[in-house]
Amino acid sequence: MTTPFPDLRDLPRLYKESDKTTKIFFKNLRGRRPHDLDAVTHELNELVWDHIDCLDCGNCCSKLPALVKFKDVRPLAIALNLGDAEFMDTYTKGDKDDGEMIFKSLPCPFLEDDKCCSVYDQRPKSCTEYPHTDAKRIIKRLSFMQRDAEICPAVWWIIEELKVHYKDRYK
Ligand code: SF4
Ligand code: SF4
Repeated sequence: MTTPFPDLRDLPRLYKESDKTTKIFFKNLRGRRPHDLDAVTHELNELVWDHIDCLDCGNCCSKLPALVKFKDVRPLAIALNLGDAEFMDTYTKGDKDDGEMIFKSLPCPFLEDDKCCSVYDQRPKSCTEYPHTDAKRIIKRLSFMQRDAEICPAVWWIIEELKVHYKDRYK
């Protein structure tokens, strides 16, 4: 581990400084497809949460509209004492027929002032999985990681550590 863990306030500057090298690095990764990319990323993902606390951040809930699927609706509607249709009309927009919606407003209406989620136990699956740095086939997620490095300090740090890990091979 050689990259200091970022302070959220420094993230816009750090992202700006690193984005160009990230682009080149990811292009090389896509070309070489290292066999251990998932394993290395998952190991970094395990480490990073000992040092970055989502309750000090809340950036994803402020800046990225969460994906809401049909199967997310019922538990949320029950928690809010609403019918499913009322919940969807009040809080979501997007394709209700296909069950692919997002929350209407940003910051997320369920993000509280102390950065807690008021529907934590019923939050959409997409919220439980963000920032997806433990997902399989990380090679397919590099574009999302590059976008998320601007929002999520954990993602920014993981990318910088991947650069260190592969520095002699995929600069
Ligand atoms: S539902 Fe909760 S975890 Fe998901 S975006 Fe909103 S505040 Fe964040
Ligand atoms: S942006 Fe990253 S560190 Fe911040 S709350 Fe979301 S997942 Fe946690």
